[in-house]
Amino acid sequence: MNAPTDILPQWHTLTDRIEKARAHAQLRATHTRLVAVSKAQSSEAVRILLEAGHRLFGENKVQEAEHKFPPLRDAFPDLQLHLIGSLQSNKVHDALYLFDVIETVDRTSLVDALVKERSKSHGRCQTFFVQVNIGEEPQKGGVLPAELPALLGYCRQAALPVSGLMCVPPAEENPAPYFALLHRMAQEHELAELSMGMSGDFETAIRFGASFVRVGTALFGSRQP
Ligand SMILES: *Cc1c(COP(=O)(O)O)cnc(C)c1O
Repeated sequence: MNAPTDILPQWHTLTDRIEKARAHAQLRATHTRLVAVSKAQSSEAVRILLEAGHRLFGENKVQEAEHKFPPLRDAFPDLQLHLIGSLQSNKVHDALYLFDVIETVDRTSLVDALVKERSKSHGRCQTFFVQVNIGEEPQKGGVLPAELPALLGYCRQAALPVSGLMCVPPAEENPAPYFALLHRMAQEHELAELSMGMSGDFETAIRFGASFVRVGTALFGSRQP
């Protein structure tokens, strides 16, 4: 974990690196926003960024976010929170009230659960991305690339508004071809948002049109166990 005093310099460095990468991007998104991934980081660390003016955060677990974020949101009502981890159907209600964007729609049963819950009350979340298992890895969440058109069709019929794609490429490979592929898929389906790139590869993701990069350790330091 970084000392809290490191967080602001890291944030400024990251912001600079994002702007530089955008300047060199071949496929430049209209915007590139930094999702500060605060999983396994303290509320104090999040608060440091909030006080400096950062508003966009990402968490991968509903329960952890439920403990951490409501008090922070009381103090900073314009805070935005993305769910970037897999969502179980029994947590859908809570997720819709906690998150502004759910980035991990990846199966029809989850679409059904989201639509059913939204028919009772929309909650806070109005924006959904589909997660693509871009490297077709068995241990990873996301819809397989070949099944993306069918899932998007299912979302459209169910009136679940999908505006973007998200992916996590295989850890030990050059991510560039995977980012290029996700970019192509988003274009094909006329989806405006692309969430891709983490601490180790966000500059590459930006070159391929990332509109959201999800950065944890390069901002906050290593995570608490
Ligand atoms: C943890 C996580 C990140 C951030 O990873 P870092 O390498 O710490 O930047 C990004 N996306 C997802 C889906 C994650 O689970």
